[in-house]
Amino acid sequence: MPNRIFLSSPHMSKEGFEMQYIKEAFDQNWIAPLGENVDQFEIEFANIVGIKAAAALSSGTAAIHLALKAAGVGQGDIVFCPTLTFSATANPIIYQNAIPVFIDSDKETWNMCPLALEEAFKKYPEVKAVIVVHLYGLSANMDKIVELCNKNNVVLIEDAAESLGTFYKGQHTGTFGSYGVFSFNGNKIITTSGGGMLVSNNERKIKKARFWATQSRDQVRHYQHSELGYNYRMSNILAGIGRGQLKVLEQRVEKKRYIYHYYKEKLSEINELELMPENAWDAPNYWLSCILLNGKMRPDEVINALEKENIESRPLWKPMHMQPYFEEYDYVGTDVAEKLFKNGVCLPSDTKMTEEDLERVTNIIKRLG
Ligand SMILES: *Cc1c(COP(=O)(O)O)cnc(C)c1O
Repeated sequence: MPNRIFLSSPHMSKEGFEMQYIKEAFDQNWIAPLGENVDQFEIEFANIVGIKAAAALSSGTAAIHLALKAAGVGQGDIVFCPTLTFSATANPIIYQNAIPVFIDSDKETWNMCPLALEEAFKKYPEVKAVIVVHLYGLSANMDKIVELCNKNNVVLIEDAAESLGTFYKGQHTGTFGSYGVFSFNGNKIITTSGGGMLVSNNERKIKKARFWATQSRDQVRHYQHSELGYNYRMSNILAGIGRGQLKVLEQRVEKKRYIYHYYKEKLSEINELELMPENAWDAPNYWLSCILLNGKMRPDEVINALEKENIESRPLWKPMHMQPYFEEYDYVGTDVAEKLFKNGVCLPSDTKMTEEDLERVTNIIKRLG
């Protein structure tokens, strides 16, 4: 069997930056809970994305949960959420006993459709918050979405879990809304093996999020709690991995961009296939290179043919309004997200891929086309 080619797997620096920070934590016996690596990771991360404050957490999902809580979302509140996303965007809405309303995508960005969002605002003027997602590292149409949220006086939360390193008109995604969320899960562009970051220009809210994330312990000697708490903080070891990974973020984006353009060039001869959209305003991180099939070739065929050669690929996210768990919630839009799901494939976009690996992938697809 030829070497396994992964969709997107952890890629530590060849210099061993991560181990140096881990070793420091060991030497100081600062394995847990918090410590120097956590504090520094937050500061370094905030500087890189260009925001005032950041809280390192146990996952991106935890960060979305605390963003909703910080936005004041609670029992019975309505939250708009893109339908085409990973369930981790929507689940925390339910954790807060709030009600998701799912919004369709547009073809230009694959992300939240501003027209559908506008329609949703008319239908639900009482909406409490909007979560926008930057899927596969492509930024959403932020000018329109920010304008609509401002006009309606609604809090905007950005799920930038997949878009660390993506810029919209020169500004980092995750810094447009009141809160931004990032993930360091194993398959993301950089990883801490598991973890997340909540960012905001509101330093008071970030401080509060850290408090909630450490069981809401009041500032007294005995264990006293005036609020509900969570165990959501990142460990000092994992933050060390994160500090090391930040040093190679640009390299990773560069390689992802290379992979995307390789696919684009080599697969362009197949008429019934297109790469995910590029927009003039967008400098994506190209986390995953995705294709859309609009002819006889079907996603299952591509995925099976690749799997037979030990190559990992997968369909696009299955829309939330089509999920058994979320079916009962309202959906605003047409069939754009559904069609993306039915016709899309995420191609292997692993930063450790060689030229030979890329050739293997494109040859298999060309044989099908
Ligand atoms: C990965 C991901 C998350 C969740 O991040 P975790 O760190 O795995 O909890 C949320 N939203 C999107 C769009 C993601 O891809």
